[in-house]
Amino acid sequence: MIDYNKDLMSFLDESPTAFHVIASIKKKLVVSGYSELAESEKWGLTEGGKYFVTRNDSSIIAFRVPRFNFTGFMIGSAHSDSPAFKVKENPEIVENGYVKINVEGYGGMLMAPWFDRPLSVAGRVIVKSGNRYEVKLVNVDRDLLIIPNVAIHMNRDANKNHPWNAQVDMLPILGSADETKGAFMRIVAEVAEVNEDEIISHDLFIYARDKGKVWGGSDEYISAPHLDDLQCVYGCLEGFLGANNSSSVPVLTVFDNEETGSLTKQGADSTFLEDVLKRISLSCSKDEEGYYRAVSSSFMVSADNAHALHPNHPEKADPVNRPAINKGIVIKFNAAQHYTTDAVSCAVYRDLCESNDIPVQVFTNRSDSRGGSTLGNVSNAHVSLNTVDIGLAQLAMHSCYETAGAKDTKHLIDAMTIFYSKTFRVGAGGSFELLD
Ligand code: ZN
Repeated sequence: MIDYNKDLMSFLDESPTAFHVIASIKKKLVVSGYSELAESEKWGLTEGGKYFVTRNDSSIIAFRVPRFNFTGFMIGSAHSDSPAFKVKENPEIVENGYVKINVEGYGGMLMAPWFDRPLSVAGRVIVKSGNRYEVKLVNVDRDLLIIPNVAIHMNRDANKNHPWNAQVDMLPILGSADETKGAFMRIVAEVAEVNEDEIISHDLFIYARDKGKVWGGSDEYISAPHLDDLQCVYGCLEGFLGANNSSSVPVLTVFDNEETGSLTKQGADSTFLEDVLKRISLSCSKDEEGYYRAVSSSFMVSADNAHALHPNHPEKADPVNRPAINKGIVIKFNAAQHYTTDAVSCAVYRDLCESNDIPVQVFTNRSDSRGGSTLGNVSNAHVSLNTVDIGLAQLAMHSCYETAGAKDTKHLIDAMTIFYSKTFRVGAGGSFELLD
């Protein structure tokens, strides 16, 4: 028996930024016999082939081609990024005897949890070698930074509603001005194994050093950084790898930049998925009509974590649709279609889960709350197909240490394994079916 929580924890531990998430996924794909394709090169796909392609080192699409004459695409989608603080240009601020790091917020995070815990820095740097630019992933894998709170004696209002200011309150300290001035990029360069002056540019993020834990009176919970959305990334990946072949092409997509609206060349609101699906079709000798026919008989699961009923704030949840931790996959609904689920996609996915004894539950926002949105609806603007929005129930979404269920990861792996082994087919009269 694989201990999925343990494996998830090491996946999370290796993946402090979106760049590292993609590297961790690539590692698992390569071990399973997948070959990397480049968007800039001609693709010669073969029947039975297993492939992946990345964009910006922070998004990835993996797929198998069981046969050229395939019906459609079975797509599982999740996101690689999480809210964090990004290191700005000219990172060091030297004042008041300290070296502080100049950061700005990436995504909508809860700020309070970032105080008073060991932090570090990871991301990518670009270095020049000859005429070529090289990307190097870096992870300064040691306790390096802390954002200190102001003592209660100096801020008697600290426990009242506090408007944290990212430019004032959230700057981590690296060390003393005397000893550490000028050290930040030197430390990054050392880890990248280059000279500091070889680094031309960087995308560096601050991350919390806390390790993932299984806890609770009956070990029923897991807590870790980045459960939104790496718990779903992991579940979709394991399901994708474990599925049997059907007459459809199974596709795993992991997009960056969901937390800032997906509007980048590698985000869900880009041409990445459309480009890849078209190129798969062309390489499998389908004409343009063949591509459109395949898309119409395709199905997407947009997987992004969902809000569990909060133990101390039940008033934040819908009166009846209240997801519980460890009670299975959450299907998300929203009348304005910020979640793509409709009666058709719900029917297909709910039946797939229930007929295989995988528990499902339902999330809706309170009617007086707008709630969030995710990958499905933005991706559908480019490749429009039947889509269901789902997630696993969790607490403290967008904290730097989140909590979810120890049993739910397996629920998602099981559901995605079955999903990826199926074919979704739409008939001429609009009838639809899910086939083995
Ligand atoms: Zn998310």
